[in-house]
Amino acid sequence: MQELMTAGGRPGYSTNEGTVINAVRRYGPVSRADVAKLTGLTPPTVTNITGKFLDMGLISKYRIGESSGGRRPLLLKINSGLSQLIIVNVRSEKMMGYVIDPGLCVHYEESENIKGLKEDEVLALLLDMIGRCRQAATVPVPAIGVVVRGPVRPEGIVVFALNIGWKNLPLKCIIEEKFQLPAFIENDAKALSNGEYYYGSVKDAGSMILLKVSHGIGAGIMFNGRLYRGINNSAGEVGHTTIDIGGPVCRCGNYGCLEALASEDALVEAVVKAVKEGQVSLIPSLAGGDVEQVTADIIYAAADAGDALALQSLSRVARYLGIGIANLVNTFNPELIVISGSIAKVSHHIADTLKQTVRDRAFESCSSVAEIRFSTASTANTLKGVADMLFAEITEPVWLSPR
Ligand SMILES: [Zn+2]
Repeated sequence: MQELMTAGGRPGYSTNEGTVINAVRRYGPVSRADVAKLTGLTPPTVTNITGKFLDMGLISKYRIGESSGGRRPLLLKINSGLSQLIIVNVRSEKMMGYVIDPGLCVHYEESENIKGLKEDEVLALLLDMIGRCRQAATVPVPAIGVVVRGPVRPEGIVVFALNIGWKNLPLKCIIEEKFQLPAFIENDAKALSNGEYYYGSVKDAGSMILLKVSHGIGAGIMFNGRLYRGINNSAGEVGHTTIDIGGPVCRCGNYGCLEALASEDALVEAVVKAVKEGQVSLIPSLAGGDVEQVTADIIYAAADAGDALALQSLSRVARYLGIGIANLVNTFNPELIVISGSIAKVSHHIADTLKQTVRDRAFESCSSVAEIRFSTASTANTLKGVADMLFAEITEPVWLSPR
């Protein structure tokens, strides 16, 4: 079973059974006819597989659905009571732990502040949190999922999580050794992209690029419901593409990266610098008179109050994001761009400039078909996205059965 989780990177969708159970889990309550349409399998194959799963108790009959002319269809849904996953989301300043079932209902959650902690303290806290979540689970736990910032190698090594100082940390091995359960380590923007695609407002888009803009900038690239991962799972590091060769130094060591110009941390840095240089603004008083305490949320509050420095700074961020998105639009010609992460809270201040910059900078043939949307549900959709990926990995029915 261990091989199932790791062999060749991401198996999961290789069997018809896995495909059917994932379709019922994602789209249920769903009719057999719709499962056939969604999966491209023939109706008899779907009937066979769902019949077997009904007998095994992996899925259940939900109710009789509405008829579209013929016989009223039987709707199927996943049986949520057979397994629960442990998910931990290691964010920049907070770590959140969850116990979640295949219907994506959360049974337990907790959070810890990790701001200012050292890398080994964050790891110890993570392991403790997983232990508590495991105790809180009420049915067998087939696997553990952890979401981190920054790139993750296919073998579950966190290459660098700049916010907490992890570098080349073999997190998957550490967790599997301690808990004797398969562990799955995922990048935050990829998890969020999957969640936004299947559980956010997207669903029907053939191609989507999600840009997560918060402390840093990451992206997820989805084509036909599949995340593009690249040769070693590093695709999507859009935050570290160069936007200005003479720009400020980035945390990655390069100069003028999109992240160094348009992330929330870059926004805070630019505002603090302007205040120190004497620019008049509401921001220092909103930060209790201490300019070192300025946060992105304080700048957003100042912008809502009409503060000129906050508005100018957000307009600059919007222009840089627009340039970054124009590059993506020209490169991938996607149907949809979703901007998520905490910057989505101020879409009312940045959307117009950002969209205009994309129109000005990208090819008309690309920008005219690329819809740009904002989504503020990043925490919820990151959890749903990673839980979905993890359940999809575990397509072998035995994983969903009590052991
Ligand atoms: Zn960089």
